[in-house]
Amino acid sequence: MKGIENVKGPVFRPEDGGFDGELAGYQAAHPHRPDLVVGAETADDVQAAVRYAADHGLPVAVETSGHGRAVPLTGGVLISTRRMDGVHIDPVTRVARVEAGTRWAQVVTAAAAHGLVPPSGSSPEAGVVGYTLGGGIGVLARELGWASDRVRTIDLVTADGLLRRVTADSDPELFRVLRGAGHGLGVVTAMEIELAPGDRIYGGALSVAGEHVRALLGAYREWTADLPDGLTSSIGALPYPDLPMVPEHLRGRYVAQVRIAWTGSAAEGERLVAPLRAAVPTTGSLGELPYTQAATIFNEPDQPHPYTGTNAMLRELDPAVLDAALDITGPDAPVMCVLGLRHMGGALARPPAVPDAVAHRDAPYLLQILSLVDGTDVPGRLHRELMDAVAPWTAGRTPNFRFGEQAAKDWPIEVAGRAELAAERDPKGLFQ
Ligand SMILES: Cc1cc2nc3c(=O)[nH]c(=O)nc-3n(C[C@H](O)[C@H](O)[C@H](O)COP(=O)(O)OP(=O)(O)OC[C@H]3O[C@@H](n4cnc5c(N)ncnc54)[C@H](O)[C@@H]3O)c2cc1C
Repeated sequence: MKGIENVKGPVFRPEDGGFDGELAGYQAAHPHRPDLVVGAETADDVQAAVRYAADHGLPVAVETSGHGRAVPLTGGVLISTRRMDGVHIDPVTRVARVEAGTRWAQVVTAAAAHGLVPPSGSSPEAGVVGYTLGGGIGVLARELGWASDRVRTIDLVTADGLLRRVTADSDPELFRVLRGAGHGLGVVTAMEIELAPGDRIYGGALSVAGEHVRALLGAYREWTADLPDGLTSSIGALPYPDLPMVPEHLRGRYVAQVRIAWTGSAAEGERLVAPLRAAVPTTGSLGELPYTQAATIFNEPDQPHPYTGTNAMLRELDPAVLDAALDITGPDAPVMCVLGLRHMGGALARPPAVPDAVAHRDAPYLLQILSLVDGTDVPGRLHRELMDAVAPWTAGRTPNFRFGEQAAKDWPIEVAGRAELAAERDPKGLFQ
């Protein structure tokens, strides 16, 4: 095995040019401050980095895009996977093999060439591996289920520096926990994920002006009570900043977007959405689009910014939840809050073929809150206020939508068997 001095990818120390650039990611708050960054290009590089850290008693963190960075590393070794971005699609088995640093946009494009779609999420720039280790709720989640459910194999460098192919047969307990509660158990160098046939969807985003958002939330509750699995939708409501880069019709206004993705025909999609459109005034149009443009439905910001956030998987969508959500995070909130509400159910609620660690899968809704970090404790206080208000209806949380250090501390994810597995496989606590 190679030593750290002859890894193929670049190695950066704090005094090296490129060190800060390598640490920059989508999350602009609480950056990692390692002693060493290994820009891994191969699984060998990852093994060398892990072995070096283990030999020197240093902690290890992994980063691809920085979308989900939580607790920053102080000292130790950061393994940056962004150079490991190979994707291979097998059109016969309908499986994508992705390397550690692959982003969803790459898989969407590669799969489209074979008339296939992956369980990708709202952000094309999020890393496939980080997303999938945390469950993964995609644009077509109610049809395709959790991304974790679709994982076939995981190549993992464990705390002993060995590279293992983890499957349902080779190591059932590790395979289970990695799929849904998998952050911090090693470094994934590649994964195989099942794709689904498909190329076009019907959908888009409908805008609802601030004064109608309360009515929208009530109407959404009724509308989503009985929809086919092929229709996945969510709401995002926020006060759009009064900035030139924001489209003029949104600038300086509180607006909700209803994001819709339907896998059936346009005519059937229109019929399904009609009751919601009749219930509240909406602007914007829906239409057919190739899945390669699915990310336009969410239109997530592409510039790095500092944010914090959490979520609640809800047992039911009581009207009191909707009132609390809007009262606490709405246009009168003292900081800019993005309120999210995702309709779950469908394939998300069905058990996977091979058990995994996705918890509360029967929760019919997911409530999300996200705020910009402004150097005060106001965002954290508001998030706690909302989570307390909806506690009577909360089944638990999903790892992917907890952002920032405070959120990770305030709302830890506890999955049966995970702590015991981590203690057994990483007894010295190498991985964060
Ligand atoms: C704008 C935005 C939109 C999002 N949309 C969705 C969505 O639609 N659905 C959804 O489910 N989630 C969504 N997320 C959440 C996202 O899936 C998580 O933040 C996920 O952790 C991002 O993974 P990453 O690799 O891109 O981020 P990173 O910050 O690079 O990594 C996040 C964590 O994943 C782990 N990790 C990453 N790579 C590896 C590896 N190779 N081996 C081991 N561990 C690794 C590490 O613990 C790391 O700390 C979104 C997040 C943002 C910011």
